[in-house]
Amino acid sequence: LRQIDNEHLWHPFTQMRGHRAENVPLIESGDGFYLIDVEGRRYLDGVSSLWCNVHGHRVPELDQAVRDQLDRIAHSTLLGLGSVPSIELAGELVKRAPEGLTKVFYSDSGSTAVEIALKMAFQYHNQKPNPDAQSRDLFACMQHAYHGDTIGSVSVGGISIFHEIFGKLLFHSVQMPCPAAYHRPEGMSEADYHAHCYAELERLLAENHTRLAAFVIEPLVQGAAGMQMHPPGYLKRVRELTTRYGIPLIADEVAVGLGRTGTMFACEQEGVTPDFLCLAKGITGGYLPLAVTMTTDEIAAAFEGEHTDYNAFYHGHTYTGNALACAAALATLELFDSQNTLENVKANEQILAERLAELKDHPHVGEVRHKGTMVGIELVANRETREAFPADRRMGHQVTLAAREQGVIIRPLGDVVILMPAPGMPAAQIHELCDVVFAAIDKAIS
Ligand code: PMP
Repeated sequence: LRQIDNEHLWHPFTQMRGHRAENVPLIESGDGFYLIDVEGRRYLDGVSSLWCNVHGHRVPELDQAVRDQLDRIAHSTLLGLGSVPSIELAGELVKRAPEGLTKVFYSDSGSTAVEIALKMAFQYHNQKPNPDAQSRDLFACMQHAYHGDTIGSVSVGGISIFHEIFGKLLFHSVQMPCPAAYHRPEGMSEADYHAHCYAELERLLAENHTRLAAFVIEPLVQGAAGMQMHPPGYLKRVRELTTRYGIPLIADEVAVGLGRTGTMFACEQEGVTPDFLCLAKGITGGYLPLAVTMTTDEIAAAFEGEHTDYNAFYHGHTYTGNALACAAALATLELFDSQNTLENVKANEQILAERLAELKDHPHVGEVRHKGTMVGIELVANRETREAFPADRRMGHQVTLAAREQGVIIRPLGDVVILMPAPGMPAAQIHELCDVVFAAIDKAIS
């Protein structure tokens, strides 16, 4: 297996054979919150298999729901047909989402869920063949954001290497400064930095609003940016301004949705209803690929009425609304109710807060960022000056390897150590995760 993996399997976000020297574990099975490799080694899954497995692996209720669906049918198309689980799931999502999000469009990854929202918002504003329609071809987004890896989602992302490589293929965006204060300019207070970010937000929207087709944001926490937390009230302010200027707001809850931050959807915490809500990852409990773009009656109205070539929405993947994935998603939502998953997130949030406080005076922990079951531990060479470690020490990566040696899987984002334990994880495993990761930090740095 390892030979074939090394020779033929191109892993994401690496050069071919990029992982070769590191003998990555080859996972064969799962057991609750653990992964088991072909040699029988058990690893605590500290990142819910890239933020997906909300209730762990081999969850009896989910296994059964997928088996039951398999006994009926695995897949049928949504082009020209309906399917029972996709309809049932749409109904459940509308019941649970912030009020006003009444339309459900399926796809199969977080990137496409965002891409669909961008395309819908664009078409909403640029309705052909109406010659009077205002042309809007610019998107507002956040500095450092990650919304996926398709051309559209990269266009509204803030990862500079992606823009450097694919820049010529991307469409236009305007980036708001990320209001997370840790990386503020030298000599500026946190309060001044926040004030600057709010002022820039206002200025950039006021200057560009006639061209803006949508504003896309990860509510509360920019996960892939290294768990950058927005100050309380920021999302609400974004909603006020986008409403004022008639700019649809796209909430990318691919990472922060499905209980991660302590509420089913992160937007709820600021009483915000976006015009688009994007979900993926945890929606099937990590069982099958499925994504959802929800939107409002108002947006959908631009696509209603008698069919013309211009009011259809031209998007639809082959596996859209796959029956097995929808069955897994329905069962996942039921587990949120039957297992009180949101209560468990709150309990985990408390345990994590207490355990992470142990890092308070650590000389190489610059900042610990934490919400719900999302944690970012930023490692620095000097806590006082916030000076980073030299890049070639790959400190985040070294911590990840040290944790793996001790049987725990985590992920680095540069020198930020990312923990994303499952919302349904029991207390004992949260402690195990903290014990191993804290020791791995010391081991890697020493
Ligand atoms: N948006 C956010 C906020 C994400 O974290 C991710 C994945 N890390 C995506 C979009 C893209 O999702 P996918 O990898 O399923 O395309």
